[in-house]
Amino acid sequence: MLVCLWVTLLPSIAFSNQTNNELLQNQLYNMSKLSVPERSQDSYYNKISKLLSNPQLDTHSLALANILMADYYSLQDNFKLTKEYLTIAKPLVQEVKSERLQHEYDYVEIFTLRGDGQIPQAIEKADALYTAVSESWPKHKLSNLVLERAYILSFQYKYKESLELLEVALAHAFDSDDPYQLTETYNVFGILYSELNDNASAIMYFEKAVEVMEENPQLTDNSYLYSNLADSYRLEGNFDRAKELLDKSLASASQEQDISAIAFAHQMRSRILTDQGEYEKALNHLDQAIKMSEQIGEELFNYELHSEYAYLHLKLGNLDQAKYHLAIAEDHSAKQGDTDLYYFERLNAEILAKEERYQEAFEKLGQSYKNYRKHFNDNMTHVSNISREQLDQERLSFENKLLEKENALNQEYLSNNRKFSYILWSLIGVLAIGIFAAIWMIFRFKRLANDNHKLAFTDNLTKLPNRRHVFRTLDEHHRNSSGGTGTYSIILFDLDHFKSINDRFGHSVGDQVIQTTKDICRAILREKDTIGRIGGEEFMIILPETTLNDAYNIAERLREHFEAFDFDHLAQGLKVTSSFGVTEYLDEDESLDFVINRADRLLYKAKNEGRNRVAATFAGDLN
Ligand code: GH3
Ligand code: MG
Ligand code: MG
Repeated sequence: MLVCLWVTLLPSIAFSNQTNNELLQNQLYNMSKLSVPERSQDSYYNKISKLLSNPQLDTHSLALANILMADYYSLQDNFKLTKEYLTIAKPLVQEVKSERLQHEYDYVEIFTLRGDGQIPQAIEKADALYTAVSESWPKHKLSNLVLERAYILSFQYKYKESLELLEVALAHAFDSDDPYQLTETYNVFGILYSELNDNASAIMYFEKAVEVMEENPQLTDNSYLYSNLADSYRLEGNFDRAKELLDKSLASASQEQDISAIAFAHQMRSRILTDQGEYEKALNHLDQAIKMSEQIGEELFNYELHSEYAYLHLKLGNLDQAKYHLAIAEDHSAKQGDTDLYYFERLNAEILAKEERYQEAFEKLGQSYKNYRKHFNDNMTHVSNISREQLDQERLSFENKLLEKENALNQEYLSNNRKFSYILWSLIGVLAIGIFAAIWMIFRFKRLANDNHKLAFTDNLTKLPNRRHVFRTLDEHHRNSSGGTGTYSIILFDLDHFKSINDRFGHSVGDQVIQTTKDICRAILREKDTIGRIGGEEFMIILPETTLNDAYNIAERLREHFEAFDFDHLAQGLKVTSSFGVTEYLDEDESLDFVINRADRLLYKAKNEGRNRVAATFAGDLN
């Protein structure tokens, strides 16, 4: 009987369980369709809690309830609890194998992926989900999904796609008539323009977001909107307005106990203090921000917090700390699949510059600039060039700063080296003067030596070769003619009765006669002949390659010329004659003395025979 009852009742119990399950599932799916502000309310949380404590919940509903709980914490930005509920839901979702359920799971997981900084995975999941649910999901939820896609794309600097998606999100937001989606969309617009350095547009969108929020009291927990706007005013240099907004943000976030928003407000506060040069105070706020974000398990902005740490430590001169935090920031950034390293490279450059490693700093800066140009060219070609110009400007000012530092260092080197270079240049100067003086003296001595040489071989009165010169020349001719290779002749002559010329006309007239002798001879002699004064009024003429006969004729012409010469311009009635001894070099002349002695004797002979005559001895005549 009992068995029979069981058998008849079983299907009806099963049937009623099934309807019950379907009802629960529908209820849960309807809850998932609520707007974000509705899903953030305490009553919503209580409802899910109650459902979760129901032991008769089927797997599908249990999975969905856990997902909705995760979603709730995700809206509170509590990533730790979000992940915990998703971990519970995961095996259940796999068991149920419902696409619809899987979509709800994926939706929440996207936010945890973003929170963990797993940007590429988040993008992939969001794109796939959007394609799958674009027809079935309510507009406001689609708007939020598109918004999320737009937001996470901005982490990869895909600004073009991001802005396009934002337009779609905005359309969905208007369609859904959900002020939350509208304010959020404006907010992400603001974030994007802020990243593109178009601060004016950013402020415009943030103001719009705040405006919509303030018109709708149910949205007041979006306090980070104030912080975003504050940061834009900070960038404009309007610190008062920025602080005012941050106070609002902090008050509202504290009231809502939104730790993520409080942390964010502290971070923004630290940025203002940094801009104002209050680095120690800025560090305090940054400390609070990072502690809070650790508390809720948010990692997304870790790279930002740590790079801001690095910057502050750099400013405070704690280079080791700066490097340490920069390394953490780089690590986080790399985990997020961030390919844009220009900000880190710039920080690195600044650290290197502080360490006076200017060459490396310049190289890093160059890399940074190349990277940022690449990013902005890849992602921003459709956006106005203004942002790029601003960044160029910034880069220029930084490069100038580096240059200034380098110049200052160079100046220091210069002033240090200046005294040494004075000494060096003085030494070089003294040395140069010394060398110059030495060269001058060498030339001077050479000229003096030349002059002395000339003086030593020149007769002062007539400027003719002197005795030494004539005998040296004669010696050369003699040596050239020895051995039958040639011949030469010499004429030795002496002015007649010169003593009486001096006596009659004066010593000065005598001198002029001696000088005139030179002109008389030059008129007769050839270019190759040499005449020199070898005594008071005694001269010798060397006639190269000249036979005795020719020499005799020359001497005779000289004698005639003297006799005929008109000395009246020197002294009235002055007459001058001369006696000549002429001889030719003979093969048997063993030395030059033989030739000279012969000429001397012939001159003596001419004098003895009455003067004003030429005496010559031909070969064989001598003895
Ligand atoms: P001789 O015909 O025998 O040569 O008779 P001389 O008077 O010329 O006798 P000697 O040659 O012995 O004398 C040379 C004189 O020439 C002696 C000296 O007073 C004069 N005398 C020598 N050198 C110079 C000179 O440079 N200038 C002048 N004005 N007279 C000189
Ligand atoms: Mg004489
Ligand atoms: Mg004489």
